[in-house]
Amino acid sequence: MSTSVVDPYLKAPEVAGYADVSFEEKRKLFEEVKQDTRYPDYLYGCYECGVCVAVCPSARFYDFSPRRIAQAAAREDVELLYQQMQEDIWECSQCFSCLRCPRGNNPGGIVTIMREVAVRHGMASAREALEGYSRIIYKIMSTGTQVSPDMLQPDAFPDWGPEVADVSEHLKLWRRALPPETLHTTSTGWDVSDRTLLELYVIWLETGVLDMIREVDEGLHMILEEVMEERLEEEGIER
Ligand code: SF4
Ligand code: SF4
Repeated sequence: MSTSVVDPYLKAPEVAGYADVSFEEKRKLFEEVKQDTRYPDYLYGCYECGVCVAVCPSARFYDFSPRRIAQAAAREDVELLYQQMQEDIWECSQCFSCLRCPRGNNPGGIVTIMREVAVRHGMASAREALEGYSRIIYKIMSTGTQVSPDMLQPDAFPDWGPEVADVSEHLKLWRRALPPETLHTTSTGWDVSDRTLLELYVIWLETGVLDMIREVDEGLHMILEEVMEERLEEEGIER
């Protein structure tokens, strides 16, 4: 008698949008999420109690629910998980208040893994979500520091809301009003040595962060390579 293995994914999935993407491709992405070593520690099933939703700040302001994330993962609903990777996961604030889950789940952690997979595959949602951050990444890599006051422009970070326009408009006034040196400059808040920048670059290189950047922003990746090429050569570090 022959035995056949029933594939749990192949039971008539309901297509949750994105019909142009094959089920096989969506399934591969979910397999990658599941294979992450953190995944077994982040999901133990779901009581559907809603505790995570009650404590989640993002659920209060967006159409987002950590319970939906945990349940979709627990049910291995490949279609819904793909939809969440294209939409929901970018609403999570990564505050991990959902660790209060009585089942021991970590919906925010599942979101972290889903985001990493989305970035590694250059998914449209990842490109869009990270669009405004290319300037920050470039700034970190070229100066070692993050945001400088001259970056407070209304079009630089649309998700910062309308106040940025107001701050930007009165930036000179703000600088005069606030005494710390960092606010009087348009360049950086503090000096970072070349050695530190080099270490940062090598860490990004070795951990695959630069590959992820290439997936979501090829232009930025090229600029970073150019910026660091000379420094690597000077230090005798081979790529
Ligand atoms: S980590 Fe994300 S899902 Fe969890 S409570 Fe915070 S915003 Fe909500
Ligand atoms: S708190 Fe935990 S068990 Fe309750 S709905 Fe959220 S993930 Fe499920």
